Amino acid sequence: MDTFHSIIGHRRVIDYLQDSIRSGHVSHAYIFNGADGIGKKMTARAYAAALLCREGGDEACGKCISCRQMADGNQPDVAFVTHEKAIISVGDIRQQLCNVVPVKPMFGPYRIFIVDEAEKMNEEAQNALLKTLEEPPSYAVIMLLTNNAEALLPTIRSRAVTLEMLPVPVDTLTDWLMAKEQLPDYRARLAAVYSGGSPGQAIACARSEEFQRQRDSVAAMMRSIAVMREDTMAQYAKDFAGAKEEQEAILGLVLLWLHDLMMCKAEQSAERLMFREEEESLAAQAESLGYEALWSLQAELGKIRTDRRVNVNMETSFWLFLAGMQRRLQQEKGV
Ligand SMILES: [Zn+2]
Repeated sequence: MDTFHSIIGHRRVIDYLQDSIRSGHVSHAYIFNGADGIGKKMTARAYAAALLCREGGDEACGKCISCRQMADGNQPDVAFVTHEKAIISVGDIRQQLCNVVPVKPMFGPYRIFIVDEAEKMNEEAQNALLKTLEEPPSYAVIMLLTNNAEALLPTIRSRAVTLEMLPVPVDTLTDWLMAKEQLPDYRARLAAVYSGGSPGQAIACARSEEFQRQRDSVAAMMRSIAVMREDTMAQYAKDFAGAKEEQEAILGLVLLWLHDLMMCKAEQSAERLMFREEEESLAAQAESLGYEALWSLQAELGKIRTDRRVNVNMETSFWLFLAGMQRRLQQEKGV
């Protein structure tokens, strides 16, 4: 069962929520705003569990009847608003929320509604919700979870407390992944950084064979770049252009390789490398490249990421990046 204790990161949000329970200042509406996988659902469920726990503390006890029902997913005073289509329709909101809000809670002091992916509510649905938010019954607590609070009507936002779910710090996330997934530290760090501080995405990366394969193939490409043959480079560029779905992931991993090169230059220690088993190749490249070269490479990579969105020829862009890095590596080595 999700409790505040089991959540990684988000201390400020949790402190705020626990304080609201202790002081009795529970709002009728909350917006949990943050990236996918960051922990919105867990936090909302933990809050619901704590609000309804029979022990009456600021954390769910895990043992009382309400907590056991929460754990089994059948707490009658907690409703998860679901939807089938790509949008949350006015019908979804009316049937599962507006029409049932007047029904008093079965047992506890609150009746809780959790709307995941709230940004998918269309305007009609949001207007229906707004009516409920304008005059909510005293026991109602509505939690809107979203990756984009801006997609909600200003009138909804002004009636809700917005909680910003910020990325979990890399070190915290790395330690957690190591313990939870039994990963070596450098692999945990890679998944942590790559996920942008989202525990859900970090776990998905850590468990994904596809991610491992991508990581290995990016490492193979980057380590051989100084001596890469022309036709191999052309093939990499062609493959990159053809793999539209994977481009963002590949660029992200190449960027992490460049970060590792920076790290090698600055710290000259392998401690915090994300491609640690490539330490030798990284050290050799870091020696050949000056800071300026590394900064330009990072900027070039950033430009490819922007260009992707406006349909620039990716084969040429990626080839130019690889060729540019090769040239710099060879120049400074005097090859
Ligand atoms: Zn309890």
